[in-house]
Amino acid sequence: MADERLKGMDHSEVHYFNSYNHHGIHEEMLKDEVRTRSYMNAIVQNKHLFKDKIVLDVGCGTAILSMFAVKAGAKHVIGVDMSTIIEKAKEIVEVNGMSDKITLLQGKMEEVELPFPKVDIIISEWMGYFLLYESMLDTVLYARDKYLVPNGLIFPDKATIFMAGIEDGEYKDEKIGFWDNVYGFDYSPLKQTALTEPLVDTVEIKAVVTDPTAVLTLDLYTCTTADLAFAIPFTLDCRRDDFVHAIIAWFDIDFTACHKPIRFSTGPHTKYTHWKQTVFYLRDVLTVQQGEQIRGVLENKPNDKNRRDLDVKISYQLVTDDSMRQAEGSCEYKMC
Ligand code: SAH
Repeated sequence: MADERLKGMDHSEVHYFNSYNHHGIHEEMLKDEVRTRSYMNAIVQNKHLFKDKIVLDVGCGTAILSMFAVKAGAKHVIGVDMSTIIEKAKEIVEVNGMSDKITLLQGKMEEVELPFPKVDIIISEWMGYFLLYESMLDTVLYARDKYLVPNGLIFPDKATIFMAGIEDGEYKDEKIGFWDNVYGFDYSPLKQTALTEPLVDTVEIKAVVTDPTAVLTLDLYTCTTADLAFAIPFTLDCRRDDFVHAIIAWFDIDFTACHKPIRFSTGPHTKYTHWKQTVFYLRDVLTVQQGEQIRGVLENKPNDKNRRDLDVKISYQLVTDDSMRQAEGSCEYKMC
């Protein structure tokens, strides 16, 4: 906090950057093999794209992506990070003999002065829970608009949010139903609070009742910060007769510029990542039959007070001919 650079920044921003000071969070990200290996393959297997290029690593952390870029033949890499981890990154780059190829700058991407007016490629790992929570995509878009040459490349360049309905009665009882009877007392005021907080957790594939549906694709070459506030209709096709207690969301990430496009997913059908999935419990339990649809709208916008928090709203309707099972509603969530 004694850092001059943190002066004038609001509390939530200071808290955000401080959370990246400690090596533990970087350990978690580096050990996420799906994440880090996808970036490694996307960069190192595409030397024809990186050779002799000027590369900008937005939010470089421990400089892992910067070092991949040097391995891929980049002429020079600039890494920018606000957190103090960058001091360690400088040592890491030094012990790996890459100091002449990588320039590391501590500061906010939006404020630092780069040693090059333009860059050929931007690399960044900016994704948060539910893709957009605490996300620094705004920062990547800022860097794109200010520094990327026309026809420059962005790694990764595509992100897609998916949704599905899940059966999760047992856990919902444990997390939400718990407040109905706490040592004989009615704790329902806390039940509302519990419902409005999405849960970041791993979901077993066998809990998934509907087909996964892509709801939003962001093209990083063209999207703007305005696209990060949206209301999008979705349709979930029910695969089997079951109950639906919650809707989950996850994202896939694409590096389409690669010679052989590289993609990784953070969904329930594939290997664990530290992003897990995000679970939005519904107020009702939907009783669904195979072939029926859950239709709804996913709304998301950055919170007015703290842009890194999200206000999410899910409206839903079970489309069925059975009047006994008809259900519709909406829930508002806050990710903070
Ligand atoms: N690239 C590293 C770290 C990714 S985590 C890796 O892949 O392992 C994201 C990093 O971006 C954090 O270290 C955070 O401090 C930094 N960051 C986020 N927003 C930033 C901004 N506006 N300016 C500078 N650094 C930022």
